[in-house]
Amino acid sequence: MPVETNNNHNKPNKSPKPRQFGGSLLILLSFLLLLNLVVPSLFGQRQTQVPYSEFIAQVQNNQVEQAVVGSDRIEYTIKTQTPEGETVEQVFTTTPVALDLDLPKILREHDVEFSALPPSENAWIGTLFSWLIPPLIFFTIWGFLINRQGGGPAALTVGKSKARIYSEGITGVKFIDVAGVDEAKAELEEIIDFLKNAGKYTRLGAKIPKGVLLVGPPGTGKTMLAKAVAGEAGVPFFSISGSEFIELFVGVGASRVRDLFDQAKQQAPCIVFIDELDALGKSRGGAGPMMGGNDEREQTLNQLLSEMDGFDANTGVIIIAATNRPEVIDPALSRPGRFDRQVVVDRPDKSGREAILNVHARNVKLANDVNLSTIAARTPGFAGADLANLVNEAALLAARQNRQAVIMADFNEAIERLVAGLEKRSRVLNEVEKTTVAYHEVGHAIIGALMPGAGKVEKISVVPRGVGALGYTIQMPEEDRFLMIEDEIRGRIATLLGGRSAEETVFGKVSTGAADDIQKATDLAERAITIYGMNEKLGPVAFEKIQQQQFLEGYGNPRRSISPKVAEEIDREVKLTLDNAHHIALSILHYNRELLEETAQALLEKEILEGAKLRERLNQVQAPDELEEWLRTGKLSQDRPLMQSLLV
Ligand code: ADP
Ligand code: ZN
Repeated sequence: MPVETNNNHNKPNKSPKPRQFGGSLLILLSFLLLLNLVVPSLFGQRQTQVPYSEFIAQVQNNQVEQAVVGSDRIEYTIKTQTPEGETVEQVFTTTPVALDLDLPKILREHDVEFSALPPSENAWIGTLFSWLIPPLIFFTIWGFLINRQGGGPAALTVGKSKARIYSEGITGVKFIDVAGVDEAKAELEEIIDFLKNAGKYTRLGAKIPKGVLLVGPPGTGKTMLAKAVAGEAGVPFFSISGSEFIELFVGVGASRVRDLFDQAKQQAPCIVFIDELDALGKSRGGAGPMMGGNDEREQTLNQLLSEMDGFDANTGVIIIAATNRPEVIDPALSRPGRFDRQVVVDRPDKSGREAILNVHARNVKLANDVNLSTIAARTPGFAGADLANLVNEAALLAARQNRQAVIMADFNEAIERLVAGLEKRSRVLNEVEKTTVAYHEVGHAIIGALMPGAGKVEKISVVPRGVGALGYTIQMPEEDRFLMIEDEIRGRIATLLGGRSAEETVFGKVSTGAADDIQKATDLAERAITIYGMNEKLGPVAFEKIQQQQFLEGYGNPRRSISPKVAEEIDREVKLTLDNAHHIALSILHYNRELLEETAQALLEKEILEGAKLRERLNQVQAPDELEEWLRTGKLSQDRPLMQSLLV
């Protein structure tokens, strides 16, 4: 909560505070840095540099004795026998591929003695740094505080003294680098034309739009699009993130806005990009007590508004802002003459994903069996950034395997990594746990195989992955889906409860492993009733507020005010939904008991079941008579309690 009441920063008198302190500090630091760069290259000994993939291959052939791993250099020793029987040590270096988190694991597996890079030959520099930097930080902060106590235009100095340059110059990003967002591109074409041929529009008295708001989930390429607009028009690109505006000190944000626009106006025509506009433009009325009437945000926002109103539209400064939460943006920002254009940048559909994969695969060597269209089909919901990451992850996997090109299996493994996390074979389960997990997962798979709209079960595994998952079942949708139909929701709930039901069926008792499934199933059942109005008794009434309303009314109860009686009814119906789904899950497993048994045993033996073999098994799943009616109505023909006979 800002406690600052210093309001003098609006005065135009720039503070002549001495800034030499900071200046000399910078010079000293850069000198040291330079020294640090130069010294090793002068005195460092030369070793043979090998590609990273070769290094990994040598490790896997158990040739490597010892490795010293640095963030940008790995030095390692290989022992070889000369024909005379002497052992010679050879030292090599390699440059690691960034982000190879599996390296320590591989080294451990092949008994390589490894350590981190020790302070290098010029360790004295490091020592000097470690001696110098803490006091320097201390003095900087001290100087800064003293400076502030001078009162007056201190806050202005804080904003200015960063002397930030917001310009990124010409970006070089082009529209072809951004794929799968054709509609957004079409809308932005116009802006490019404005920037290139302003005269054409102004001659007729047309006003160039000042602000465009890009709306879409994170990683869909909003920043890239803004850069591409600048790149295509060949104008400079200025950028700042909304969260950078929000500082501890009141007034800093406002002064940054002023700086930014001062710089931009000097270089017009240009693009000013403001990321995370929601951090700044949060609806003022909506800020609940929890968030505080944030003075700083308010002032910064006002400054932005007045800057936007202040310059003539035809100066050629076009502001592109991005947000993934358009509903919380202050309405003042979307008035005409401000961000009056909204362009939606959504997650790509299948063909969009294929196009994005194509863009990112340009620089990667692909084997002939790689089919980007299949990969696109298997990755619904992935945004551009996820796909970029996927391609990189697959390339890393291929490099580790020392392959000439990236093959389809690398992509499949990479998808799984992104969906379910890294394999954690080190998490060793005991026999009972492993058996429980196996039956649990097969339970999900058997139920999932019968349910509508859920996609094929592609893989079941009892190899722990990611955070907390001891086993997993992967179901891949066959197409992108935007709606879920009633029966699919029921099916999903039953599938979620399938794991637990299998434990009950086989062991007669349940483990803690189903907690997450139960949570999700309950959530879904509740939403079906309180948001989607799918319950007969309660009807199409919204009992829950969706996020946007919640926000506008301040953070309050997510439920509408309802009578205790209705609340009771909701609870009862949620429970009934879950009970019925549970019953169906048990009933299906009961019908397919033998299949459950065989499949779980096969899974225990192989750890992973997938592909045609798995499909063959799951094709044998039999549907009990009551399934169809339950899917259609959500009800069971007789109001049966969970049949005890289904258990054990
Ligand atoms: P946002 O600003 O929407 O969060 P970014 O523009 O920062 O997303 O995207 C992050 C990265 O993801 C980009 O650098 C790019 O590599 C990749 N990416 C995202 N969307 C696309 C796209 N439509 N086409 C190609 N690459 C994309
Ligand atoms: Zn489960």
